[in-house]
Amino acid sequence: MEMPALDRDSLAKRDRIVAALRAIVPGEGVIANVTEMRAYECDALSAYRTLPMAVVLPASVQQVSAILKLCNDEKIKVVPRGGGTSLSGGSLPLGDGIVLGMGKFNKILDVDFQNRCVVVQPGVTNLAITRAVEHEGFYYAPDPSSQIACSIGGNVAENSGGVHCLKYGLTTNNLLGVEMVLPDGSVIRLGGRHLDADGYDLLGVMTGSEGLLGVVTEVTVRILKKPDTARAVLMGFPSNETGGDTVASIIAAGIIPGGLEMMDRPAIHAAEDFCKAGYPRDVEALLICELDGTAQEVDHLIDIVAAIARQHHASFIKVSESEEERTRFWAGRKAAFPAVGRISPDYLCMDGTIPRSQLAHVLKRMEEMSAHYGLRVANVFHAGDGNLHPLILFDANVPDELRKAEDFGADILKLCVEVGGVLTGEHGVGVEKRDLMPSMFNENELAQQQRLKCAFDPVQILNPGKVFPKLHRCAELGRLHVQRGALPFPDLPRF
Ligand SMILES: Cc1cc2nc3c(=O)[nH]c(=O)nc-3n(C[C@H](O)[C@H](O)[C@H](O)COP(=O)(O)OP(=O)(O)OC[C@H]3O[C@@H](n4cnc5c(N)ncnc54)[C@H](O)[C@@H]3O)c2cc1C
Repeated sequence: MEMPALDRDSLAKRDRIVAALRAIVPGEGVIANVTEMRAYECDALSAYRTLPMAVVLPASVQQVSAILKLCNDEKIKVVPRGGGTSLSGGSLPLGDGIVLGMGKFNKILDVDFQNRCVVVQPGVTNLAITRAVEHEGFYYAPDPSSQIACSIGGNVAENSGGVHCLKYGLTTNNLLGVEMVLPDGSVIRLGGRHLDADGYDLLGVMTGSEGLLGVVTEVTVRILKKPDTARAVLMGFPSNETGGDTVASIIAAGIIPGGLEMMDRPAIHAAEDFCKAGYPRDVEALLICELDGTAQEVDHLIDIVAAIARQHHASFIKVSESEEERTRFWAGRKAAFPAVGRISPDYLCMDGTIPRSQLAHVLKRMEEMSAHYGLRVANVFHAGDGNLHPLILFDANVPDELRKAEDFGADILKLCVEVGGVLTGEHGVGVEKRDLMPSMFNENELAQQQRLKCAFDPVQILNPGKVFPKLHRCAELGRLHVQRGALPFPDLPRF
């Protein structure tokens, strides 16, 4: 993975920029020494690390606005950062840019039960939103496994998902509005407490924009009433194929479970060793299926799901009998990533999405690739959404293993696209999948996406080197449209 060459002009301005940032955020809000900046040198894709020129931690919208205006005027790159849990390198610093940490934006501003929404600052963790409303029987549905640490601003930027997103939607389906600061320092609002907004769906554009379009400074999300009953069913299978086919059959039967997750043998063992969740050890694949609704509806659906599992040769079926047991079934799944971290020095967590009917085929191909590369793979994924998370196990201290793991990961993602899927389900493109974008989009499509970026960020200060495989100056993209000598955007500087 290569990043764009460092910009010497930016590096030469470092002392002046740090002083200007200190004037905007006095006190401890600017970190410029190497030891303290180490905490920011990577996100959860820790195979890649870079020290930024400085880290700035604003505490008000006015400060964010002044910082962005300064950087825009001085052409200094900015990497917005929430909890730093991105798995695609989205918040990886740039050596010639600053990190804009949003950790001090940690307040819940309003809990509005009447309109069933909550207004928060972007540094609030995902789980804190549910914690703030659960006493009234409400919750915030998207629940990434990182929910204890990831910020809602990061969730917006990555359009994050979780085990309950199959039925209740991803961040984009639960987001009502944002306040954001554009790179020139101007502050805008998209959406609000109401269900929909007029005009272009700019809130939709902003969701999943990976810190490339603006910095989110306030978030309004919808909250849902907890279902009357929720029960989880564990189902064990003799092969990945039979597990995968069961997933496809459950959805094909018209059932949308609250969650439908799958783990393969290595992941089952790692999670069981770590959490004692009650998983069977003598199966090749495990499904966790949660049914929710009224007690009667849930009982009825459990019967259908269990019958489908038996048709696909399930050797183990266990229904949770208490809330404590249901939580324990999920604990293993939610801790599966750290659990796999105990059995391998390093792993790369991939994230691709495929049509559900292709699950069995793709899992089979992955086994073949695993043998080809000589690297183990553990699978933990949102099976109901067709969202795969193969964890490729490797040891960064063994020469060439990181490169092999990256190549293996790239092959998996190309396979996802080949079978009609997409490069990412929820972790974003970042730097991790940036160079694979041409396997999914043609030149015209990529250029059109970058024109959208230019409409928000003409100087391209926000998170450059992420998402797009080639950096284009905005004026270059404009130049593609010159027709009969009429120059579009004549006011834009040409290079
Ligand atoms: C153990 C583990 C489990 C995970 N499980 C899941 C899962 O189940 N589902 C899932 O979807 N993801 C999961 N993730 C990935 C990650 O937690 C999500 O992508 C999360 O949304 C990142 O939030 P963050 O606050 O950590 O953002 P960061 O990592 O700080 O940043 C992520 C991106 O958002 C941008 N950004 C951050 N804050 C702002 C802001 N205020 N304004 C504009 N841009 C901003 C950054 O520039 C960057 O591009 C997991 C990660 C880990 C480590």
